[in-house]
Amino acid sequence: MLHIENLYKSFGSNAVLKGVNLHIYPGEILVVVGPSGGGKTTLLRSINYLEKCESGSICLGNNYLLKDGRYASKQDLKAIRRNIGLVFQNFNLFPHLSVIENITEAPTRVLGIAKEKATQDALNILGFLGLSGKANSYPYELSGGQKQRVAIGRALALNPKLMCFDEPTSALDPALTDDVANLIKSLKVKGMSMLIITHDMEFAKKVADRIVSMDQGQITNEHMYDNEKTGS
Ligand code: ATP
Repeated sequence: MLHIENLYKSFGSNAVLKGVNLHIYPGEILVVVGPSGGGKTTLLRSINYLEKCESGSICLGNNYLLKDGRYASKQDLKAIRRNIGLVFQNFNLFPHLSVIENITEAPTRVLGIAKEKATQDALNILGFLGLSGKANSYPYELSGGQKQRVAIGRALALNPKLMCFDEPTSALDPALTDDVANLIKSLKVKGMSMLIITHDMEFAKKVADRIVSMDQGQITNEHMYDNEKTGS
């Protein structure tokens, strides 16, 4: 589903990704853990083309975003990126837009879907997220957990093949961690593949099919934890 090979990225003289190799299988939840500054967020941003890498390959399905250091054309990049959803650590909701407007913004602007259809789809997503009553609320009126659900809804609205989460529990009350874990598992049931970065090992064990560790710009332990094998 997602194949990353020999990926390199530097910020000036600071080499941050130093030959990253990572594969996510269809329908798999892969969690990346590791010490601060190891390059996890940079990796996630690189997959979403929010950072440009110097060399290596990133391939989603059969489509190369980056192949041996060369990026796809602008048009192809746009098409590939539509299949990748990203939920930021701080949610990044548009503060001046209501919940429903936050969710319909990308489908109408990026995909050109008619507003009526996008609104209906967004209402379905809000139902799935347990937020039906909040369609006309604004982000400042929501709790942290609700904001995060809206951020997930916004990513889901583009119906991505891969969802990426950057520290999904870090801004939440610990009591909400189980809710997030259950929501992520219900996305897996829908067949979505997921890449999750977290410091929260308990949460990682709850949701992961596989946990890998990243340190100093490399995946250091490919089979740190494998839910299939441990059966837990
Ligand atoms: P954390 O767990 O603390 O979020 P991380 O593993 O996600 O850390 P990154 O945020 O990817 O690590 O940072 C890796 C390195 O890249 C750090 O040395 C950081 O200072 C550097 N870095 C990240 N973003 C930038 C940037 N935009 N400009 C310059 N350096 C950056």
